Order: sequence, then C-alpha cells, then structure tokens
Amino acid sequence: MDAGKTCPSSTCTPGNSLIGIRGPDGRIKALRTPLPVTAEFAQEAARSGPPEARMRFASACQTSGCSQWTGTRCGVIDRVLHHLEAVPEVLRTDLQPCAIRATCRWFDQSGATACHGCDLVVTDLRAPMAAE
Ligand code: SF4
Repeated sequence: MDAGKTCPSSTCTPGNSLIGIRGPDGRIKALRTPLPVTAEFAQEAARSGPPEARMRFASACQTSGCSQWTGTRCGVIDRVLHHLEAVPEVLRTDLQPCAIRATCRWFDQSGATACHGCDLVVTDLRAPMAAE
C-alpha cells in the first residue's frame, strides 16, 4: 500500500478540492486546475442538494480510515470497472486532462482503465468516509 495517494471521489468539505463538474451528458468534466473548497463554497453548493451528486472532489486517500478501503486497495473503482465491463461502449477511449492523475489512488491501481470510467462516477454518499 502506498500512502500519499489522492482520493478522486471525496466529499465537499472545506480543505478538499473541487476537481470536476457533471455536464449535461451526465459525465464529469475535469477541471484543469482544482479549486479549493472553502466553508462558504460548501455551504452555498449544498443549497441545491448534495454537491457530490453534481461535482467531484479530491482529498488525501484515507486508506484504512475509509469504509471503501479493502485492506489493500480502494474498492470503489474496482466495482465501477466491474459494472462497466458489461457496457464497454460507455467507456472513454481517450484520456482527458486530469489535475490529480499523478497521485490518484484509482490511476495507481488500475492505470488508464480507471480514467476511462472515471467520468461516469458519482460519489456515493451512502458509504460515508470515516471522520478525518
Ligand atoms: S479508499 Fe476511500 S479515500 Fe481512498 S480513494 Fe477509495 S474512496 Fe477515496
């Protein structure tokens, strides 16, 4: 396990970073430059419902402090890619620019395959991360 990786599916919490916004086609459009989440931004974004349903946020991967950690890896992207195997036509074939790829937990685990399905991921708040 490699510490110091970035979670690409985190919460709209002050101190985290906004890294993508869902477009009209339902896919996440990655920002070239992450924007810091402030308390004001988080409060304003929550006025229209869970921000995580419309945007993607990054933070440090919590590894064993996260309910998605299997003990050796992040279970989220494994499940996403497993489901998408059945519908390969929805996968991207190109790599869109990504500000966190160099440290991304999912890219570290699955390489470009993770990126091909990443823009279809909406953060699941039913399995909240442990308190930081
Ligand atoms: S284990 Fe948790 S914190 Fe780490 S990348 Fe996966 S969802 Fe994010």
